[in-house]
Amino acid sequence: MDGAAPSPPSRRRALWLMGAAALGVTGLAADGARPAEGSAASAEPTVRARPVIHPTPTPTPTPTPTPRPASWGPAKLTSTETPVRELTTLSPPPPPKSIALTIDDGPHPEWTPRVLDLLAEENVRATFFIIGEQVKEYPVLTRRIADAGHQICNHTETHPIDIADLSTKRVRQEIVDAHDRIADTTGIVPRFFRSPGGAWSDTVLELTAEHGMLPIDWAVDPRDWARPGTGSIRRALLEGGDGDILLCHDGGGDRSQTVAALRSVLPKMKKRGLTFVTL
Ligand SMILES: [Zn+2]
Repeated sequence: MDGAAPSPPSRRRALWLMGAAALGVTGLAADGARPAEGSAASAEPTVRARPVIHPTPTPTPTPTPTPRPASWGPAKLTSTETPVRELTTLSPPPPPKSIALTIDDGPHPEWTPRVLDLLAEENVRATFFIIGEQVKEYPVLTRRIADAGHQICNHTETHPIDIADLSTKRVRQEIVDAHDRIADTTGIVPRFFRSPGGAWSDTVLELTAEHGMLPIDWAVDPRDWARPGTGSIRRALLEGGDGDILLCHDGGGDRSQTVAALRSVLPKMKKRGLTFVTL
């Protein structure tokens, strides 16, 4: 138990409202680089602005957040009742041949830097679902992830694997504590949430939406956390393709197999013409 005092409710509320507002700005690049096909279901404006996060609604001085660069501006779900497993579920969908690498359970002092080095070498941007308690312990490393242009998302405060059985109050605390930790450390208001172990309940989904975030799962799970061997992780990841969300881990234990697998998978996927995008 870290004993950290919770933030005043008014400030929290303001942060959530900001997050919700940011989500409401559905947006896409105004540069018109992306055709709007496939998005007929929603009444999209013809000129769409890149989503902007305005994190300073209170008089309290807070860090000025830099909106994460993204090759594809995320938007919204047609329904928040089901976690997103494929990029095409999002509206508008990403450009063809997009793929997303998500990395969970960090930051970790040994493995996160290795993952970051590899991503930098390959010029790949990823989406990190981070744990509040880890952020508290490694704030500098957390900022390094953000500063490298990767996306920072909420993966709860303590990673309770039984979250689907927890009370509304407990789930809310997990979400809010991680949110505040991430926002205070990086100036970023997370727009995406992943439940520990992909365990969702109606309560978890409702609170995810209530706090202005979209629920994210994955399409490809190499079970790298179980250390099945580099070859096994590599083969599973290479099954992924256009529109898939890949799941990997930089926290929770020895991730040397994950790093080794990614080292060969990333260039192979790029050779296939796939582009790694953040959510
Ligand atoms: Zn996790």
